[in-house]
Amino acid sequence: MREFTRDEIDYILEKAASLEIYARGERKSDMLAGRILANMFYEPSTRTRISFEVAMKRLGGDVINFSAEASSAVKGENLADTIRVVSSYCDVIALRHPKEGASRMASQFSSVPIINAGDGAGHHPTQTLLDLYTMKKEGKLHDLRIALVGDLKYARTVHSLAYALALYNASIFLVSPPSLRMPDEIKMDLMSAGAKIYETEDIQDVIDDINVLYVVRIQRERFPDPAEYMRVIGSYRITAELLKRNEEVIVMHPLPKTDEVEKAVDSMKQAKFFEQAFYGVPVRMAVLSILLAEWRKATTQSDSSF
Ligand code: ASP
Repeated sequence: MREFTRDEIDYILEKAASLEIYARGERKSDMLAGRILANMFYEPSTRTRISFEVAMKRLGGDVINFSAEASSAVKGENLADTIRVVSSYCDVIALRHPKEGASRMASQFSSVPIINAGDGAGHHPTQTLLDLYTMKKEGKLHDLRIALVGDLKYARTVHSLAYALALYNASIFLVSPPSLRMPDEIKMDLMSAGAKIYETEDIQDVIDDINVLYVVRIQRERFPDPAEYMRVIGSYRITAELLKRNEEVIVMHPLPKTDEVEKAVDSMKQAKFFEQAFYGVPVRMAVLSILLAEWRKATTQSDSSF
């Protein structure tokens, strides 16, 4: 996410808006006909993997799905070798991997663009793009007062989102149990980018000041010590009663939810997480079409001018 400028993000969001009609299947396109996306997922995924696949197919492209368990990874092949080979079979790769920095590393061995679809506790940039798209659709992006709530230490979605929020001059409220605070390194980056950040342990302190509440689950799989997880389990929860205090606030969540959002919230009009998940399709369409149609055209043209 650190690589994006605000203009680039705005461009992607505008592009996504123009593609929503295709994402809904209301119009057909063959913009990416003949192009192949390799979905390479070394960690579980529902929405990211499927919405990448749908995005590609609705634009006329093809998809190959690679799952680590059924590949030579189990025979001990390293990521660099797998990427070298898979990139010779396709035009773009969406990579999810449990190690931070895996996508950046993969990009050094790939002959095609790599999209980071989640690298450990690191980043999840396409999630951030669809989060921003949701906020824009909800009319919140120009005056953003947002609470990031929950496991801010391990949740990659909030790491990526925080960098983007700094570009949109948001007021950022970091709400987490003490042991799950946002890493200092990220807070320092945000402050040096001029972001306004406030930290607290209790959502009650900030509920009246925000217009977006972005909650994440405790990232159980990232805890090195299960005892550490047991100590924080159930330490925060968004309830219908809390939301009644601020009608203006919308609730977002990258999903999957576990028990950090009370069931009753699902049916409240402030709950936007299912729409948010749908927006993964137009946003990923925008990313794919920029990489495969626009960017590729631009590089091909400049090649031929030599
Ligand atoms: N699906 C999101 C991710 O892959 C959020 C989560 O798993 O909590 O990071």
